Amino acid sequence: MAKSYSTVAVIGGGASGILAALTAAQEPARHVLLLEKQQRIGRKLLATGNGRCNLSNWNATPDAYFGSDAAFAAPALQAFSPMDTHRYFSRLGLLTVTEEGGRIYPLSDSSNSVLDVLRFALERAGVDLRCSSSVDGIRRSGSGFQLDVNSEPLNADAVVLACGGAAGAKLGGSTDGYRLAAQLGHRRTALRPSLTRIRTAPEYPRSLKGIRVQAKLCLTQKGEMLATSEGEVQFTETGISGPAGFELSREAACGGNGLLLHLRLLPYEEAGVRTLVDEKINAYPALYASELFTGMLHNRLGRVVVKAAGIPGELPLGVLSETQIAAAVSCCCDFRLPVLGVDGFDAAQVTAGGLETGSFSPETLESRLVSGFFACGEVLDIDGPCGGYNLQWAWASGVLAGRLGA
Ligand SMILES: Cc1cc2nc3c(=O)[nH]c(=O)nc-3n(C[C@H](O)[C@H](O)[C@H](O)COP(=O)(O)OP(=O)(O)OC[C@H]3O[C@@H](n4cnc5c(N)ncnc54)[C@H](O)[C@@H]3O)c2cc1C
Repeated sequence: MAKSYSTVAVIGGGASGILAALTAAQEPARHVLLLEKQQRIGRKLLATGNGRCNLSNWNATPDAYFGSDAAFAAPALQAFSPMDTHRYFSRLGLLTVTEEGGRIYPLSDSSNSVLDVLRFALERAGVDLRCSSSVDGIRRSGSGFQLDVNSEPLNADAVVLACGGAAGAKLGGSTDGYRLAAQLGHRRTALRPSLTRIRTAPEYPRSLKGIRVQAKLCLTQKGEMLATSEGEVQFTETGISGPAGFELSREAACGGNGLLLHLRLLPYEEAGVRTLVDEKINAYPALYASELFTGMLHNRLGRVVVKAAGIPGELPLGVLSETQIAAAVSCCCDFRLPVLGVDGFDAAQVTAGGLETGSFSPETLESRLVSGFFACGEVLDIDGPCGGYNLQWAWASGVLAGRLGA
């Protein structure tokens, strides 16, 4: 039997907290407080998608998500699908476009538009928005709760915890949510940074810094395949970044010895690359070997592949041996980088792990330990791949939690 709560406190003015507050405020007689510790709401939202906000993905079905019990996310994601996100934001006046891979962005290409329509909606709904309000404690008080907000007590009949996770510390990512939930008896799993840069042995990345390539990636450990991905990779000072690299960071974060990243640098099988290489050698036998991949790969990357194949760059193409040609083709189709680990929570987009979902009802997101206490978004042990999936989870779980069991 759903209870009617007259005062509801939502802790955290990020994506999930804003939608939880808007949903809870649909009951006109209810006083909904949105408590945000930063000076303004939605700071992380503004940084998403490189400032463009990849707000959802048409392929964000429940089977795409991760967590100790990923099926926990299904009821929320089914009740509020990418189509619902699309409709919801259209009703708020946001125009959107779909890009490659089903990624949904605002037509304006600016995350400000997303936050602006949400701010207008909060105002229209009469949500009592309180920024610079840090919640530092929570305890039971009668059948409701007492919060410590900037060391002052605040009472609420129900609480929605929407503090986000540890990722993106400079944008407000913190462990506050886990700490607050622990005060009510909730536990968390181990936390790992996900959707972050992979650090590789420094040999090549430094000379490749800034180069982008469309590649097929594969992560192996001692010969065993752990994960694959495909798409844009960007070489950085310390390793690789970009969506296809991010996809593998979850597994790469688990660490361990013998992790190897394999990149297929051209969209052809070995035989296809061999044909292209043979054509180049036949057409330009006097050209330096360092130019073997010129016109096929970024110049700097092409030279590094030749070097990685052990071929002296100043040899004329016409004198390359069969072994050298085969090595060059192989290096291009399977360019290997030993993995050292991943960048930490500061650089990560999302937290893998979070509050143990077994202690919450998947149908309502209400705590099984403390009635009237709900949680949503990244603070829970659910995370998604790169491409709008994490915001889709934040919106969907925010709406479900904001229904307060009704
Ligand atoms: C750089 C970057 C880019 C990203 N790009 C994308 C993308 O394009 N698409 C996508 O789907 N996902 C993206 N993500 C992930 C996505 O932003 C998050 O998963 C999502 O914002 C989580 O929403 P949330 O509401 O759970 O948490 P958050 O958005 O982190 O909001 C939590 C809020 O709670 C506040 N808070 C914390 N503790 C307290 C406290 N004690 N008292 C009061 N307030 C508190 C925080 O200040 C914060 O505003 C990106 C993340 C980062 C860091």
